[in-house]
Amino acid sequence: MASHVPLYKYRALLLSQNFFIKDNQAELRLHAHKYDFDMAFFSEVSQFVAAVEGDTGNGLFVIDLDALHNMQSDMQDSRKTLMLGELLERLPPGKEYVYLQSSRQGGRFLLQQKLVDSHCLAYAEKPIANDVLVDKLFNLFVQQKRGDLVRLMHLGAVDGLDDACLQRARIELISHDQAQTLHLRVRELQPDLVLIGDAEFARIDSLARVLRKNIEADPVREIVLLQHKPDAALMQHALASGFDAVLPAGDPDLLCAQLVNRASKIRTAKDLIAKDRATGLLNKIGLQKKVQELIRQAAREERPLAFGVIDIDKFKTINDTWGHYFGDIVIKRLAVCLASHLGERDLLSRFGGEEFVIVFWDCTLEQGWSKLDAMRRAFGSLPFEVRPGDVRKFSFSGGMAAYPACQTENALFLRADGMLYEAKQGGRDRICPPPASAAAAA
Ligand code: GH3
Ligand code: MG
Ligand code: MG
Repeated sequence: MASHVPLYKYRALLLSQNFFIKDNQAELRLHAHKYDFDMAFFSEVSQFVAAVEGDTGNGLFVIDLDALHNMQSDMQDSRKTLMLGELLERLPPGKEYVYLQSSRQGGRFLLQQKLVDSHCLAYAEKPIANDVLVDKLFNLFVQQKRGDLVRLMHLGAVDGLDDACLQRARIELISHDQAQTLHLRVRELQPDLVLIGDAEFARIDSLARVLRKNIEADPVREIVLLQHKPDAALMQHALASGFDAVLPAGDPDLLCAQLVNRASKIRTAKDLIAKDRATGLLNKIGLQKKVQELIRQAAREERPLAFGVIDIDKFKTINDTWGHYFGDIVIKRLAVCLASHLGERDLLSRFGGEEFVIVFWDCTLEQGWSKLDAMRRAFGSLPFEVRPGDVRKFSFSGGMAAYPACQTENALFLRADGMLYEAKQGGRDRICPPPASAAAAA
C-alpha cells in the first residue's frame, strides 16, 4: 500500500474525550476523506502535544474543550477556566489551534475572549454537525496553503505598491494604459481583480459596465476604483456603475494590505467554484475555463495539445463489492497517481464521479498516448488491500484527441469520449487510438 505521496493532502489532529465526538469518529473521518484530509483522534493531552510537536507543517490542531470537563468533571466553573489556562500552557508554542466549545462556554464572553487570544486559529460552537465541522476545517486548510496566483490588472498609475509584498501574497500585477482597450486585455488575460483609477473613470464612466455586462464575464472578478482624491459623489457614481468597491490610493502599504485581503477572498471563491473538494483537482467548471485558456495559448505559440478522458473500469462492481467508501479511496488514489505524472503546464480534472480529463501541453496525439499509457500502467500496478491479505488491482480506459486536429474544447471532448467508448468496447484497460492508428489518422 505504501506510496511516496500521502493519500490525503491534509491532516487534522483532534484532542477529545467527549463522547459526542468519539462516537462520531468513523463518520467524521468519512466526511474528512471526501475533503481530502485525514483525522487522528487523541484522548490524552500528552499524546496530542507530542503529535502536534511532530507535525511537519500540514496539520490542523483541534481541541474539544469538553476534554477539560471530563478531566476535572467535579470542578467548579471558575476552576474550569483556570484548567483551561493550564491546558493552554501545555500546548506547543508557535502553533495555532481550533477550539470546540460548548454553547455554555460560548455564552461567556470572557472565556471566548481568552480563547481567541490564545493562539486561536478559529473556534467552533457545539453542537456542530459532522459534515459542517469538516467543511469548516477544510476551509481553514485551504486558507493556510499557498494558493493559486491571483491576477490583478490596473488601469492608470498605482504608485508605490510593494512588489515583494504582492508576490508573497501570490498576486501578479499587470498594468494597462489604454482605457479603450481594457475590455480586450481583460478578455485575453482574465484578471481576477481590475483596479481602475478615478481620473480614468471620470473620463469614461462606462468602463466597469463594459467589463461587467459581457455575458462571459467571470462573476468572481472584482472591479475596484482607486481613489487618488476624496470625492463622495464620484464614489457614489462608481458604486452605481458596476464597481464593487472604492479604495483610497494615498498610503501604498494600506492599499497593499487591502489588495492582499481581497485577493484571498477571491482565491477562496475561485477554489469553491472550480475545484473538487475530495481530490483538490479542477472540477468540470474549472477545467472548462483552463482548457479554453490553454487552447488560446497553444494557438498563439503554435503548440499541439493532447487531450485525454479516462474512466475507471467496472467501477460499479468495485462499489458493489467493497462499498462506496472503498470506491472513494480508489478514486482518490487514482487522482494522486495521475497528479504525480503531470508536467507543470498540464491540466488534470476530476470531470465526474470516476472520470478524469488530462490535457498535456505541447504534446502530440502519439506523445500523449505514451504518457497516458504510462499512467494506465502505473495505476494498474497499485495494490489495493481490500481485506487483510486480499490484494486487488484495478484499471482504467482512456480516449485521446489532439489540438489542432480538434479546434475547440467541445470537439476535443467529443472525439476523446468517442475513443474512450472504443477502448471500453475493445476490452478496457487500454488507451485509444493506439499509436499505429493515431499515425494513420494524422
Ligand atoms: P465501465 O468499465 O463500463 O466504465 O463500467 P462502470 O461500472 O465503471 O460503469 P460506469 O462508468 O457507468 O459507472 C460509474 C459508477 O461510478 C456509477 C456510480 O455509482 C459510481 N460513482 C460515481 N461517482 C462516485 C463517487 O464519487 N464515489 C463512488 N464510490 N462511486 C461513484
Ligand atoms: Mg463512468
Ligand atoms: Mg467506469
